[in-house]
Amino acid sequence: MSKAIFEDLARTLPAPGAKRISLRVVPQAERSIRQGHPWLYSNSIEEQGHEGAPGDFGVVFDRKRRFLAIGLYDPTSPIRLRVLHHGDPVKIDDAFFASRLAAAAEKRKVFADPARPITDGYRLVNGESDGFPGLVVDRYADTLVAKLYTPAWIPHLASIVAGLRAVRPHERLVLRLNRAMQKTPEFLHGLQDGQILHGRELSGPVVFHENGLRFEAEPVVGQKTGFFLDQRDNRARVEAISRDQDVLNVFSYTGGFTVYAARGGALSVTSVDISAPAMDATDRNLALNKSDRNVARCRHDSVVQDAFAALEEMASQERRFGVVILDPPMFAQSSAQVGAALSNYQRLTRLGLELLEPGGTLVQASCSNRVPAETFFQAVEDAARGFRRPLTDIRCTGHAVDHPVAFEGGSYLKCIFARA
Ligand code: SAH
Repeated sequence: MSKAIFEDLARTLPAPGAKRISLRVVPQAERSIRQGHPWLYSNSIEEQGHEGAPGDFGVVFDRKRRFLAIGLYDPTSPIRLRVLHHGDPVKIDDAFFASRLAAAAEKRKVFADPARPITDGYRLVNGESDGFPGLVVDRYADTLVAKLYTPAWIPHLASIVAGLRAVRPHERLVLRLNRAMQKTPEFLHGLQDGQILHGRELSGPVVFHENGLRFEAEPVVGQKTGFFLDQRDNRARVEAISRDQDVLNVFSYTGGFTVYAARGGALSVTSVDISAPAMDATDRNLALNKSDRNVARCRHDSVVQDAFAALEEMASQERRFGVVILDPPMFAQSSAQVGAALSNYQRLTRLGLELLEPGGTLVQASCSNRVPAETFFQAVEDAARGFRRPLTDIRCTGHAVDHPVAFEGGSYLKCIFARA
């Protein structure tokens, strides 16, 4: 980054308030903060020194006025404080953030191992679990994407930008803002979703590598930060079981599982997604890997349709596949939706099993953090048993190394691999 851009950001964005906001909280919140939980909800605050702006520092004190934690204050969210540090008092400054970023980069060292096929797309900072509550940074080759989930990071953005530059040299940095933030422009100080914070403008997708495969990501307009990096290890597992199989990839997005299955030697892959642009990207991702003989040989069928309708239609045509992958979007946005989500997962299990050859492999994932892993696995197993296709050789997987989970509630991804 040129020094000018850094100074520009530092000048146009607000600084955090000089005075820290002191907070006294209800006993239950005090307990959960002592246990290291990173969120303090507004309704847990009993007493507050003064009102603050997003990104001001808030300090939680216990009944005896002892320091418990310091974090970023956010008056726009029910999560009023996101804890940066628990325990003894500490100064939060550029050096603090720089050392946290260095620790996060260190955790991802495996991706730089020259003995492994190249992977230059991964999550560099996974929010709360890397000590940056409400901030995610993904790397796609020379492009970094910083996604904010709270305006509380805005006063600290210049510091983060400088720190990222130091730990992970890159050509450009894209800023993404979550949906809630986009609805409160008055707190954004002119920042916009998709803005290039520094580096060259982006006219289309960027190409990056995952386990030696090439993929497009859409950092400016794509879902999440442009690609579902969290499924990398599960995709590699699919590659390992795809040889000579007809593979069905449902909710395929831009074809992550599709390309891996093709390289694994699948005879054919059928991708199903409701999004036509995602399907077009799938074709481009396959084309990007045509130098691989298996990918070049694999037949690809695209189905742009609602997944449930497509599965029913294929079942009525008595289609069968050796591997069926079901990776739907989040079904439960709130705890009230968990019941409905579970019955949708079970409906998918039955539809998937109907299309699965006897002895084939079912791969079913859930990214709903409201649905606990055990509950999900049990629901899939129950549905399979009820459908008279009980699961065997069950393997359950969770989060990859670049998506660490360091607090209760931070876990969302789970996937079951099983024969039926
Ligand atoms: N498996 C993908 C990620 C899936 S994200 C990967 O590894 O990259 C969920 C996908 O489900 C999105 O692409 C979205 O377009 C698609 N989707 C959402 N609702 C759908 C529906 N009713 N039918 C088919 N696809 C749907």
